[in-house]
Amino acid sequence: MTPLNRFLACMLTLTLSPLASSAGETELKIVTTTGMIKDVVQQVAGDRATVTCIMGEGVDPHLYQPTSADVRKVLGADMVFANGLKLEGRMTEVFEKSRTMGNEVVVITDRIDKSTCLESPDYPGEHDPHVWHDVTMWASGISIIVEELSRIDPDGAEIYKENGEAYADRLNALHGYITWVIGTIPREQRVLITAHDAFGYFGRIYGIEVLGVQGITTESEAGISDINTMVDFIVDRKISAVFIESSVSERNVQALIEGASSRGHEVKVGGMLYSDSMGAPGTWEGTYEGMIEHNVNLMAASLGGTVPEGGFRGARTHAAEGS
Ligand SMILES: [Zn+2]
Repeated sequence: MTPLNRFLACMLTLTLSPLASSAGETELKIVTTTGMIKDVVQQVAGDRATVTCIMGEGVDPHLYQPTSADVRKVLGADMVFANGLKLEGRMTEVFEKSRTMGNEVVVITDRIDKSTCLESPDYPGEHDPHVWHDVTMWASGISIIVEELSRIDPDGAEIYKENGEAYADRLNALHGYITWVIGTIPREQRVLITAHDAFGYFGRIYGIEVLGVQGITTESEAGISDINTMVDFIVDRKISAVFIESSVSERNVQALIEGASSRGHEVKVGGMLYSDSMGAPGTWEGTYEGMIEHNVNLMAASLGGTVPEGGFRGARTHAAEGS
């Protein structure tokens, strides 16, 4: 038995209690890996569940090592939602063991049609895990969450369905907003250069060319040749801005700026994007909609596009007020 197995077995006897004993008395305890999943699950669950996420603001999911407190959370939850496609590469073992112990672990991308997923350029035969950057793909996960919550809490099924439909409408509006804003960026400027390859799905659906210094995961370091190739591209295409990410070191992006500068081309930092992690809890950027809106507005502002006054949030608030 590995130390992790021993720990899991020990925790199981301490924390595993059947859902039946709590149904009707207390709300569901749901645990998610990323904040993006937490937000969508909370939107569907409403006040029927307490939803907590393991990976908070600024955490890189590719590198995240679960703590013993995380394992306790996973084992003590009524249901766990994870992204999958190796995004949470170092948590896979915890999920597998938890499942064999009878716990509910839902891996959202396991249920997404793989023919709609991008192939990983780094790992042939594997898929890019960053599906949340295509808002239509993320919205397609709502029905999975509705179905799974309804399965363990049938009394809430009607509420989950209503909440899910309302949230899907909001994400549909967000998708329309992004399409419009990205469309305002001059065509030759529609290039998104970031620290790692998180924006492949975004680029595919919203029509912007994307390049990351590091690959699909942040586990392998970028080499000098990767940096030089990217500098060539920036100089040749006269790229005006490159972007840092909240969950990844900006070292490589700074190397691009210095490399381009040494060849007589000035490129600026367009700002900080939320790639694999949302902003601070309690802020607009700490929600999925806010994270995505922040990114889109920043891209438009830095690459010569237009951000409408008030942005998506302003329009949404306006619509909600019915004025
Ligand atoms: Zn990533």
